[in-house]
Amino acid sequence: MAIALLSQSHWSPPLHPDYMPLTSGFDYPAAAANSAKRFRDLLEAAPDSILEVEPGGRIVLCNAVSERIFGYSRQELQSMTVEDLIPDSSRGGHHHLREAYWKKPTLRPMGSGRTLLAQRRDGSQFPVEISLSPVQAEDGLHVIAIVRDATERKAAEEQIREVNQQLAMRNHDVERANRLKSEFLASMSHELRTPLHTIIGFTELLAEEAEGPLNDKQKRFLQHVHKDSLHLLALINDILDLSKIEAGRMDLHRERFNPKQVLLETLTGMQQIAAGKNVTLEERVSGDLHVFADRTRFREILNNLLSNAVKFTPEGGFVLVSAVKEGRKVRFSVRDTGIGIAAEDQEAIFDKFRQVSSTTRGVREGTGLGLAIVKHLVEMHGGNIHLESEPGQGSTFSFTMPLDASGGREEPLVLIIEDEPGGRELLASYLNPAGIRTEWAATGEQGLAKALELVPDAITLDLLLPSRTGWAVLRELTSHPLTASIPVLVVSVLDEDQAALDNGATAYLRKPLKKEALLRALRQHVPARFSTL
Ligand code: ADP
Repeated sequence: MAIALLSQSHWSPPLHPDYMPLTSGFDYPAAAANSAKRFRDLLEAAPDSILEVEPGGRIVLCNAVSERIFGYSRQELQSMTVEDLIPDSSRGGHHHLREAYWKKPTLRPMGSGRTLLAQRRDGSQFPVEISLSPVQAEDGLHVIAIVRDATERKAAEEQIREVNQQLAMRNHDVERANRLKSEFLASMSHELRTPLHTIIGFTELLAEEAEGPLNDKQKRFLQHVHKDSLHLLALINDILDLSKIEAGRMDLHRERFNPKQVLLETLTGMQQIAAGKNVTLEERVSGDLHVFADRTRFREILNNLLSNAVKFTPEGGFVLVSAVKEGRKVRFSVRDTGIGIAAEDQEAIFDKFRQVSSTTRGVREGTGLGLAIVKHLVEMHGGNIHLESEPGQGSTFSFTMPLDASGGREEPLVLIIEDEPGGRELLASYLNPAGIRTEWAATGEQGLAKALELVPDAITLDLLLPSRTGWAVLRELTSHPLTASIPVLVVSVLDEDQAALDNGATAYLRKPLKKEALLRALRQHVPARFSTL
């Protein structure tokens, strides 16, 4: 037996340099015995099972951990073959594997990518990790197998897998509950609005005294009904908006427009309430600025901020709207000389249903949803909202909207994302003579950066790009709030029409591409900019 052979010095461990003869009186047998002892100590101290196996598969050497993990005594192990430690089910083919290893013996892990199982004396099985390395012994090549009991690691992995699975399920449940809540709110709000419109309509009819005169008390009662119905309607509209936003069902319809026009209309609508409080409304916005945004939602943002500014500004106060260009955005500011907001409340007011102060009329009006909606709407446009305020001094709410990057350009712009210089030139030579400006990008990253910077009227996208694939670019283009509405025409040699359309492409054009097919696709899918082609 190997261990016995070892003690008989049959096996000669390599001499450590420390034990090499330095002088002519060196005691070689003593040094060899010392070296053998150190080797044995090392073997026994190893945390893993170490088995030395001869070509026939017989185990010739093992350590204490081997006894412990397999449940056999050292003597037993050293009379067994490695096949005896393998589960019955996989034992059959093992000798082929062993023979194959002997033909090409290298240091390597065994069964990489598979879960290896070993079998104990009592027939129970456990996962193991095994590394193999060849060693030269006196009777030829042996293999050292280092066997690690992977039970704990596998159990920990399994636990992590289970926890991950539970988390994914919980996430799914939370998302579903959230979606159901938003859908419920959306349908409830719808149901509530219809009767409310009837109440408001009839209240207004009655107040007109068309059906006969009302006494003062009746008029006062009717005014209460009317005012509270309007308040309820505003609340329901806000809830509907917010639930749509939260359910991801609010789409932006972007266009290029002059924000000053929308601002002037909003100020006109606000004028009466402001005049009633003797609050001056002013604007300082250049008529040359253009934004690329959803006009209705932009109006909603302005309306909310302006009505708050008027509501929270005392008699004789001042409200000013201004705008400045800030890179590729326009920053709008609504400044008032009102009651201001304490520092500790400045973050909370963007939460749903947060109201921190009474209005300057002493009543708590409003729904507490306005700023939550405004924040969402601004962020959906890729912008941000800031508040600067000091109690008693007033507040400035400022938010950004995307600048119309065309600078009011007349000729349409197409961004060509294509790595082949020849392909780019071909597309440009189709488009330029038709009065279409082109810009190009040779990689996905460049393409995304240019799309954000230029906000072109359309994009042509090759699917086979270096580094980031065209698919990833397509997904990012169609999901980024700033580029989602830009039509993407995929131009590719691949046969992936449906997959591209499913991933948000506007059209799929197969290479080799004909000039007329490209112009037709632009006319068809982007009529607003290319109808005259
Ligand atoms: P609402 O105005 O319907 O109450 P908002 O979400 O629009 O809801 O505003 C939340 C709260 O933020 C307001 O109730 C008020 O306390 C505070 N607030 C908003 N705008 C101003 C402002 N311009 N000046 C002072 N406080 C403001």
